[in-house]
Amino acid sequence: MLLQAAANYPVETFLLENDAECPAAHLCHQFTKGDIKDFDAVYNFGKGLDAITIEIENVNVEALEKLEVEGVKVFPKPSVLKTIKNKILQKQYYEQHQIPSPKFIITNNAAELNEQEEFLPAVHKVSEGGYDGKGVQLINTKEDLVKGFNAPSVLEKMVNIHKEIAQMVAINEKGETALYPPVEMLFDHQLNLLDFQLCPAELEQKTLWKVEAIALAVVRNFKSPGIFAIEMFVDRDGNVLVNETAPRVHNSGHHTIEAHYSSQFDMLWRIILGYPLGNTEAILPSIMVNIIGAEGFSGEAKYEGLEEVLKIENAFVHLYGKKQTKPGRKMGHVTILSKEKQELIHQSNRVKSTLFVKS
Ligand code: ADP
Repeated sequence: MLLQAAANYPVETFLLENDAECPAAHLCHQFTKGDIKDFDAVYNFGKGLDAITIEIENVNVEALEKLEVEGVKVFPKPSVLKTIKNKILQKQYYEQHQIPSPKFIITNNAAELNEQEEFLPAVHKVSEGGYDGKGVQLINTKEDLVKGFNAPSVLEKMVNIHKEIAQMVAINEKGETALYPPVEMLFDHQLNLLDFQLCPAELEQKTLWKVEAIALAVVRNFKSPGIFAIEMFVDRDGNVLVNETAPRVHNSGHHTIEAHYSSQFDMLWRIILGYPLGNTEAILPSIMVNIIGAEGFSGEAKYEGLEEVLKIENAFVHLYGKKQTKPGRKMGHVTILSKEKQELIHQSNRVKSTLFVKS
């Protein structure tokens, strides 16, 4: 999508990716096959470019640092990626800047974790390399301690969650900011994946103010231009706590493609190119449904119920063109627009019960 959005601007695009058949490969002007985790691959790719951005944090930051020193603009700054890639550093960043976030302690190995019975119930999060819930374990009782990680991790107090929301913030090189309306996330707790996402989130006015103020504090203290998705918990007492930040275009902003005047992708180009920030307002309220590989099917992806879903008014189907499906794999998303919340819920349930990715 980022490469598609580039078509509106006078820009030449280059893509580094290990899979030459990845869905975005044909959308850029020049494709380079290479491992984004490899120093030489990233450095050689970025050398001589005007600007570089990322779609996943799991990239070689040292190469980006060297490129930055040599004058390539990097969005977000490598210093931000360093902090965010490591959950311990990320939590320390929130603490240092007095940004509310669940209480935590650091555990370096299983033995240290086993001494933390008094801190339970808690959530154990491996410091590096976890994503989509794969580096997260809920530790409710001391019997659950065996599920924890034998590696540097964060043990975070379990929050009594009322709502999970995400606030997207755009910030340019002048430090000007634009906030999208926050979205409310509903999860499939079995797969630990986002299920539906409603925009705007239903929040009391005073909660909304807290959300915006906290998100701005997270972003401003990074001192880096870019687009950021700040995931937060609203607890049962109305407290707003930062869960984690994504310093890039994010799943929680997919609906902005159709539902907002300036999408998150358009916004990032504006930031990179030094143009004015876009209009973050919603054209209409929306709901986003992730299309996830069905349980029990692995192999070449086939879409069941697609025609039915394409008949739904104001439903926008995005299939990412991944050739292979497996249970729980994110294969696409559908955004539905409507003035009526009931209609959004109804149609999103229809999508969920109609569209399946099988093999
Ligand atoms: P990932 O980076 O893999 O997405 P998260 O840190 O977002 O992992 O955690 C995944 C999910 O676990 C969250 O969306 C939330 O539902 C739950 N979770 C994480 N931290 C806490 C917490 N401190 N208290 C309660 N639930 C939590």
